[in-house]
Amino acid sequence: MSFLVGEATGAMRSGASRPHPLPGSAFNLTDCAYSAPMLVGAHVRAGPQLTAALGIGAELSADVVQIFTQSPRAWKPNQYAPEALDRYRSAQSEAAAEGGVQATFCHATYLINLAGPDPELHAKSLSCLAANLAVAEAIGSLGLVLHLGSHRGAGMEACLPQVADALVEVLDQPGTCPVLLENTAGAGGTVGRSFGELAAVVELVAKSSPVAASRLGVCLDTQHLWASGVDFTSRESADKVVRELDAALGLARLRCIHLNDSKVPFASARDRHANLGEGTIGAEGLASLLGHPALDDVAAILEVPGSGKGPRGEDVGLARRLVADGVAKRVHD
Ligand SMILES: [Zn+2]
Repeated sequence: MSFLVGEATGAMRSGASRPHPLPGSAFNLTDCAYSAPMLVGAHVRAGPQLTAALGIGAELSADVVQIFTQSPRAWKPNQYAPEALDRYRSAQSEAAAEGGVQATFCHATYLINLAGPDPELHAKSLSCLAANLAVAEAIGSLGLVLHLGSHRGAGMEACLPQVADALVEVLDQPGTCPVLLENTAGAGGTVGRSFGELAAVVELVAKSSPVAASRLGVCLDTQHLWASGVDFTSRESADKVVRELDAALGLARLRCIHLNDSKVPFASARDRHANLGEGTIGAEGLASLLGHPALDDVAAILEVPGSGKGPRGEDVGLARRLVADGVAKRVHD
């Protein structure tokens, strides 16, 4: 990975002696020792020059931030001067060296739909994705999180080739920033309702371009997982989820978790995030998954409402406590 942030890490801040492996470094499911506390962060506002994100991240005590680099609900890409993108990259390196925000994830525009039947929307989606990825690459992001979209009833089989072709087109290019496919809450037509659906996309991409497939990762959203009918709230169920994810996609593809509680019930197939401990998953249920040793080099990013303006410092603090609780429970049981 071309983006190195030096030796200062969240692990050092919390007193551990070895540097924290950044998301994407190799780990092994059978060797389940903890290496360092999970990196915890939040989706934050980036502002017109993006660097505001790092200041907000610092205020929240976040190890990582996630940002939109253009309006999530508009097609028009933001035009950044190359110097502005370079400035972000250096500001990010400085923040990391000082033990602050270690890394940045980007979230792609919500309008993108690689699976839809309308050719015009597909073309717009493709160029929007390419623009999002170019900015993510230029700022040294560890990944661009993407919702693949909806086939609108046409079926998985019908939409898979166009989804894979689009990913190959944007990823079989110079660059290293991965695209992280996010699991969906399970609404009909959305692609990514199960690990199997995400795996089908990755496999098809790999068939036509191993290079493109090597730049595909996964973002696991806890609220979406719960809403799609996958339980992970006990140690046994969490272990099963990690095993299934590894079998379907390989754990090395898992780069980040979107850490959210759920406003809606289990298996309700709806995407509604709640503050940690205030939803139907609950603090203890989330901790069961967060404590899994195979996830300790994955970044957990809050996308919770806070008090209406997004994740607060107290949400980040609570997330860290849940990680610690989950780990302590496994170590002591
Ligand atoms: Zn999410």
